[in-house]
Amino acid sequence: MSSSAKCVTTGWADLPENGLDLAAIDPRNGPQFSPNLYRFLKGRGQTWATTCRVYLDMDGILRIGSLDDGWLHGAWLMGVLCYGLREQVWAHPPGSLGDLREITDFWTDYMRIGRCAIDPEHKQSFIGDESRWAVHGDERLCLWCGNAHQKLETWVEEVRNERWMTA
Ligand SMILES: [Zn+2]
Repeated sequence: MSSSAKCVTTGWADLPENGLDLAAIDPRNGPQFSPNLYRFLKGRGQTWATTCRVYLDMDGILRIGSLDDGWLHGAWLMGVLCYGLREQVWAHPPGSLGDLREITDFWTDYMRIGRCAIDPEHKQSFIGDESRWAVHGDERLCLWCGNAHQKLETWVEEVRNERWMTA
């Protein structure tokens, strides 16, 4: 089996594979896997799916795509999660997104814990979030990764109001 792939349509240089097994992230395997991300990767084709990587840009935004000679051919990862194949892929000129830092273990983590790999802090909400948490009173456990435990915090805020009245 070849360890690299070539995109003939754009004449890209050989891109190393990313280790992603598309069948492993089929949403039928569990609710932790995004149906939209799966459809997006399937729709873009095997070569794209097995070479794309996830990068963090200078604004802290996750991008999915491939770097070719400094150009990022990619899409906004959260947009892909929300809109699937309707999310556009753009060619970003070198430097336009700042220094792109690759999330090197992204696909390994995603295959293991699904969307918790995108939100390790467990602060975001996703489509299908209701399948994510097992709630017991004021505590909840993440069912997607099995590794996050949160406690519900309750507080009361004092509000000072004022208005003009007839004297
Ligand atoms: Zn989790």
